[in-house]
Amino acid sequence: MADQALSLLQVNQCMCRKTALGVSHFLFSDLAIICSMNKPANSFKTCARCGRVMTWRRKWAHQWEQIRYCSKRCSRARLRQTDHLLEKAIFSLLCSRSGTICPSEAARVVAPENWRDLMEPARCAGRRMAARGEVVFKQSGKTVDPSEFKGLVRLDQGPKFHEANPGDV
Ligand SMILES: [Zn+2]
Repeated sequence: MADQALSLLQVNQCMCRKTALGVSHFLFSDLAIICSMNKPANSFKTCARCGRVMTWRRKWAHQWEQIRYCSKRCSRARLRQTDHLLEKAIFSLLCSRSGTICPSEAARVVAPENWRDLMEPARCAGRRMAARGEVVFKQSGKTVDPSEFKGLVRLDQGPKFHEANPGDV
């Protein structure tokens, strides 16, 4: 009870000091404190479905550790066997040559007839592998951000390519 009274007194003193400093100061300083309160040290992670980088948001504050997907769409889709097959195809293609590959080549391996439908899933597979350091995305020979690039892209072996273990699907 004594502790409670003390803390109330402290809060009261604090409010008085802030009011004396002005309303705008009070609002902004408190917003900054509230916003940074639950932000974890590692405020970035990769979506388990599309491989895009996710940035910490306040609405995720209480479950950041459990968040795996960037959107409801990714959460609904989850990872299917095709997605694992695409990762495996990317790995096999990069093993079999010294240069880069186009994500469409992996799509053609998995679905020779309907490969166009797998173009975005193939890029997603590449992003997931890029997040693990197994591949890098390249445009005109330069490494690009897998979450940000626009246009045609190629995949190359990443620093952890030889640690990749696509396994049997
Ligand atoms: Zn996603």
